[in-house]
Amino acid sequence: MVDTLFIQFINERISPRYSSYCLGNGFSDTWKFCKNLGDFYWATAPKHTELKQMNDFPIAEDLPISSGNIYVSCFNVVNLFLVYQWAIRYPKIKIVAGGPAVGSILYNQKQIPPNLQITDQSVEEYFRIPNLTQEWGLELPNTLKENDQVMFSYSTNNTCYNKTCIFCSHDWSYKKRIKNNLKYEFDGLFPNNKIVFFPCPSSTQNFLLNEFPNFPTTDDYYVLLFIRPDQIINNILPEVLNKRKEKNNKPKLILALGIDFLSERMLKYIRKNHTIQDAKNTLHIISKYKVDCLVTTIVGWPNLIEEDLYQVEEFLKMPEIKNAQWFLNQLQAKVNTYIYDHEKNLFKGKPHNIGPFCVGFDLELTKKQRQLNDQVRQLFRTYIPPDILVDRYNKATEQYYNY
Ligand code: SF4
Repeated sequence: MVDTLFIQFINERISPRYSSYCLGNGFSDTWKFCKNLGDFYWATAPKHTELKQMNDFPIAEDLPISSGNIYVSCFNVVNLFLVYQWAIRYPKIKIVAGGPAVGSILYNQKQIPPNLQITDQSVEEYFRIPNLTQEWGLELPNTLKENDQVMFSYSTNNTCYNKTCIFCSHDWSYKKRIKNNLKYEFDGLFPNNKIVFFPCPSSTQNFLLNEFPNFPTTDDYYVLLFIRPDQIINNILPEVLNKRKEKNNKPKLILALGIDFLSERMLKYIRKNHTIQDAKNTLHIISKYKVDCLVTTIVGWPNLIEEDLYQVEEFLKMPEIKNAQWFLNQLQAKVNTYIYDHEKNLFKGKPHNIGPFCVGFDLELTKKQRQLNDQVRQLFRTYIPPDILVDRYNKATEQYYNY
């Protein structure tokens, strides 16, 4: 029986078109190295629609060992909270937890059990592996069924070329995993439907022009990429999609855009560094080439004015909006963001804690601002058909889920 486990979470994601089991496959690039030290173990995280009930606290599943060492890759704070429970339940297991979640929380060390170490080091740094081996691998969770859709991440470059948005909690110091020699190893690994997700929040011109066209063109998966709806991307997107057209519209593609608010004034305030016209142009190009598209927008702002609402409505009258799937998120002042650190007069509210971990605070709005934000939500419900709108408002708890 091994006493060392490498744990990764399966995060189930529900959406009208692309529900999937998201594999937070943080160890896949170091799989061979980790395999020499212990076994892999897949743990299940609760569905994201249930997560706002976190403060009723989901229960971490039992582990197959009761003493030894565990290394965990935490994709989000919910994963980290489950790890915290394990540390309390299994005092004879030494647990080291890392992953993207670590950059998005604050905590008091005194509340962390002594057998739990939270690290912002990558696996390579923690084990002092000099370089990524570039030998990607993964053992599939045996709980997956034949027809399940699986999403897994393929790290190439996970930084953003904008980095200015005031609400963005992306921890830019988080260790980059840059792969120079893409081998597309997932081809043989996933026999089911799959989505290959490139976790870079803003794909670069260079990636889209030079790397994307090399992507395999078999039928069993979608490629999911984030692009910024800005002039930089609009200048090259038709060329990229034309090349794809020559390959019979392969690979299958989902483009995700963060437009975040649909008025010029608010885009400037958020420091998005793109305009409403840029975003309309991007949607127009994507529609013209019949590419699947996801758009994220945000409500819950403390500083809307009537004029914003007119512009939101104007935007939502575009016929192209019906080609996308829309996500309406609720603004939260997350730690490591500009609004959390510098805008405390305007952005205030109750701290949002998940166990010992603070993720920021839920904003409290004045009555006037609540009305304006509700009107924005209502405009989305009026113009966007319900089957393509995901409003992250949980009716059961009257709260939002944002993880
Ligand atoms: S919101 Fe997107 S574009 Fe803005 S800084 Fe964050 S990752 Fe970059």
